[in-house]
Amino acid sequence: MSSVIQHRPTVATIDLEAIRHNARSLRAAASGAELCAVVKADGYGHGAVPVARAALDGGATWLGVSSVEEAAVLRDQGLAAPIALFSEPPPGAVGDVLDLRLVAPLYTTVFATALAREAVRRGTAAPVHLAFDTGMGRVGVERSRWRSFVDRLPSEGLAVTGTWSHLARADEPDEPTTDRQLDAFDEVLALLDERGIDPGLVHVANSAGILAHRRARRPLVRAGIALYGLSPDVAVDASEHGLRPALSLTSAVAFAKPVEEGTPISYGHRWSAPTDGWVATVPIGYADGLHRGLTGRMEVLLDGVRRPVVGTITMDMLHVWCDDDEPAVGQRVVLLGSDGSDRLRVEDWASALDTITYELTCHLTARVPRRYDDLGHART
Ligand SMILES: *Cc1c(COP(=O)(O)O)cnc(C)c1O
Repeated sequence: MSSVIQHRPTVATIDLEAIRHNARSLRAAASGAELCAVVKADGYGHGAVPVARAALDGGATWLGVSSVEEAAVLRDQGLAAPIALFSEPPPGAVGDVLDLRLVAPLYTTVFATALAREAVRRGTAAPVHLAFDTGMGRVGVERSRWRSFVDRLPSEGLAVTGTWSHLARADEPDEPTTDRQLDAFDEVLALLDERGIDPGLVHVANSAGILAHRRARRPLVRAGIALYGLSPDVAVDASEHGLRPALSLTSAVAFAKPVEEGTPISYGHRWSAPTDGWVATVPIGYADGLHRGLTGRMEVLLDGVRRPVVGTITMDMLHVWCDDDEPAVGQRVVLLGSDGSDRLRVEDWASALDTITYELTCHLTARVPRRYDDLGHART
């Protein structure tokens, strides 16, 4: 929201020191490899530009995004670091790829040809990272075409500065797929070697790869979710690796009322007060990205005390059962983050909803103002 008017207390706060700390920790975990800070999807909902700056301060040397459009936002804001794209844009985007100095992934001959032709026309060579599918099954040159793709690379207009692949099951540490993918990736590297092609900067690890698979730590690693201090999945817990969640989501009590035992609350009357007590209304709902499926499955910290969210979560408001403690309008409500020694985690929402942390932070909508906590870190 661009307006300077802000009365609604609901706000997402992003701790940039946590981002810097996580960047430093991930580099250390990857034995000093170069770190690509993945800031696609507006920095997983945290804000791509401030996160990118903090990650670079913390030692990241690359930024990773999924589209030319996302890269353009970073360049517009003055970020000069190398930017890797994770999927080929349509061939019509090659001019912008070059103008914005992006490192394009390469996995189709059509895109390779278009990019090379435009680069030659400009008297330059476009830096590219060859992308091979070793088992993810998404984008990348499929195994049956590895050889023909490499043999048909345009002879001018491209500079191969990197080679990469992507892991499908790195968040399952004992599952053999990752090892098989890494074996396949080594075959790719052997093929390039055979053809006399320098693979350049080699990269394969995402967050789970960095944290759970020593063999995946190559000269560059790509961290998204772990940079935000969140777990890729239950089996790879970010907090066990000393990573700190950057996002908190807070609001305040907007309305409080006493209710009698049996009073139904909210749409569908799916909940009624179990005893006489107090209900607080908090101005946040599914239009802010708070998934309606969390109805009956989440708690908040109201003035530091864990309280259940009751009744159907609505577009703009939710309800908190306070038992016989009278809440006060204006009291702090933490939905994610800590208050005192207690902490509410995105991971808990993800398991309640049978999804992953990624989806939930991406879903925070523009209605929630982002505030950046920089703990006195002065940028000049
Ligand atoms: C999104 C993405 C990443 C980051 O994955 P995380 O699990 O968030 O670390 C890395 N590489 C590629 C190609 C991606 O698309």
